[in-house]
Amino acid sequence: MTARILAVDDIAANLRLLEAKLQAEYYEVLLASSGPEALTVAFTQMPDVILLDVMMPGMDGYEVCRALKADARTQHIPVVMVTALTDSTERVRGLDAGADDFLSKPVDDATLFARLRALLRVKQVQDAWRLRSETARDLGIESQPDPLMSVAGARALVMGDRPDEVQAVREALEADAVVVTTVSSIDEAQRELARGEHDLALLALPEDAMDVLRLASRLRAQNATRDLPLLLLADPAQKMQVLRGFDLGANDHAFRPLDPNELRARARNQIRRRRYQERLRLELDRSLEMAVTDQLTGLRNRRYVRRHLDGLLRTEEAAVLIVDIDKFKLINDTHGHNIGDAALRDVAERLKIQLRAADVVARYGGEEFLAVLTGAPAGYALAVADRLREAIASEPVLTGNLTVPITVSIGVAVGGPGITSERLIGMADEALYRAKRDGRNRAYLADPALDKSAV
Ligand code: GH3
Ligand code: MG
Ligand code: MG
Repeated sequence: MTARILAVDDIAANLRLLEAKLQAEYYEVLLASSGPEALTVAFTQMPDVILLDVMMPGMDGYEVCRALKADARTQHIPVVMVTALTDSTERVRGLDAGADDFLSKPVDDATLFARLRALLRVKQVQDAWRLRSETARDLGIESQPDPLMSVAGARALVMGDRPDEVQAVREALEADAVVVTTVSSIDEAQRELARGEHDLALLALPEDAMDVLRLASRLRAQNATRDLPLLLLADPAQKMQVLRGFDLGANDHAFRPLDPNELRARARNQIRRRRYQERLRLELDRSLEMAVTDQLTGLRNRRYVRRHLDGLLRTEEAAVLIVDIDKFKLINDTHGHNIGDAALRDVAERLKIQLRAADVVARYGGEEFLAVLTGAPAGYALAVADRLREAIASEPVLTGNLTVPITVSIGVAVGGPGITSERLIGMADEALYRAKRDGRNRAYLADPALDKSAV
């Protein structure tokens, strides 16, 4: 995977060293030597990961990180703080500013590359979601990022074989109102997590870490846990296992002795990232829904019903009903466009109520609806059409204190594999035309003999 890394440091020699290391691994490297320059490069070049020096004159790394995480354009870009400061309060400060991890100077190559791979993997998934929910963003329905979003109510699972440690982790997380489940075995953890209800799993590495690493890799392979953030708890001596863990799917780690504040901050960041991803997913669902829905009536739209019919006709018989409101122009002209819209919504609602869940009814044009029925031979389809016609004619549309009588004419056609959807709709149209010509408020079946394109 080729990725673009932005390295930020005020000391030129440090930058050159990082640049050489990253280029040797075929990363594309961008450089910045101050906080403001880092922000400019980030906003214009959109790097995949940012390696950020903490101590810089003027704007320091924490400030840069906060600015990146507060901007919708860069909020999703993982930030790794590179620092000579190793005490835990400094780390917590960085995590609170939204940093995704820390590397201490001098930077250890194996750690650097394992972290980069893990961060890039998560980012790749998120980028895919972001791309696909662009429509939603264009429509202005994206919620703004909130780096300080509360994690209260999030669900975390803690797995460990040392009761004291598990209890300490539980207390640290509960201070942020995270709901904690604890388990002591891999089987239990697997069972609990498979329910797909957790936002984070913290896995303590026992002396022999292999089974836990296998669990991490298994969780990545399963649908319910594919995007679940995994945080490893380990001894500093287990560094190599932790690095292996990153390659197998872990997202973050904390070394013993565990600092409760650092643990909380890491957990918060993972949970927020997870929720951001969930939000992207919801936005995608919503934009897909909008793409197939008619906004006025809430029915399926023309594009959707055509696809549906094309698909059905490949293998099945289908009946097509074109429902056209009679003299609708007159309703608009007499009562105004808004009453016309209300009438359209009312007709749509009645059609929906009359049809089975498996049938698809769409708004096909201005005052024209198309229903597609499966398993409906001609006689049955015509009976349904007549029932629809009656459901509309029998009761006027009521809006405010207005009573607007309304009727529809319906053309019905039935066909199966071998007929195109255009031809079937054309036949129904012909029947509709006859229904209009004969005085409206009637449902007619297409006459196959009149299907000119039939062989
Ligand atoms: P016919 O019985 O022959 O179908 O007569 P009609 O008046 O229903 O048919 P025509 O096609 O002449 O007019 C349809 C009218 O529907 C014209 C258009 O202004 C109106 N219309 C189309 N879309 C909408 C809409 O979204 N809202 C409203 N209120 N009116 C619409
Ligand atoms: Mg009409
Ligand atoms: Mg019409």
